[in-house]
Amino acid sequence: MSLRPIVKWGEPVLHEASKPVSEWGVPLQTLVTDMIETMYGAPGIGLAAPQIGVALRVIVVDLSVGEDKDQLITLINPELVEREGEQSHEEGCLSIPGFGGSPVRPARVVVRGLDLERKERSYDGTGLLARAFCHEIDHIDGLLFVDRLSPLKRDLMKRKLRKKARANDWDE
Ligand SMILES: [Zn+2]
Repeated sequence: MSLRPIVKWGEPVLHEASKPVSEWGVPLQTLVTDMIETMYGAPGIGLAAPQIGVALRVIVVDLSVGEDKDQLITLINPELVEREGEQSHEEGCLSIPGFGGSPVRPARVVVRGLDLERKERSYDGTGLLARAFCHEIDHIDGLLFVDRLSPLKRDLMKRKLRKKARANDWDE
């Protein structure tokens, strides 16, 4: 297991769609283990593979941040299969330290994907869990919460982010 550096806004891997996983083997297990450790180390409630520089469709979510084993969710090639209603709450992102925003998200989602044993899993989430699923699935589609803000807020934030990225000077 190892903690991996978290890639920051501006790195191409965060802004491009990641590829579906096609091989279930040791490298995938290692990737997932490292993602979980990196998420807990940050600490955060979710992480997507591109955030550690790997352009694959893998996400991990744990609202308990390691306190409750039953809350850890690993999804490979996840998809939103249902969405319902709307909610908007402040979100942050480990790849955009020091920034926050409130994108509009579905109030409830159903997410389907595969686990490490290649078994199909589906989760029905509302509230924070729904937001976390949407946030992480956005990551593997190359989208960050900033991209979902109103044009005015988005442009303002992107100006600041470009400066941060140029100087590689993030508040951590
Ligand atoms: Zn994020």
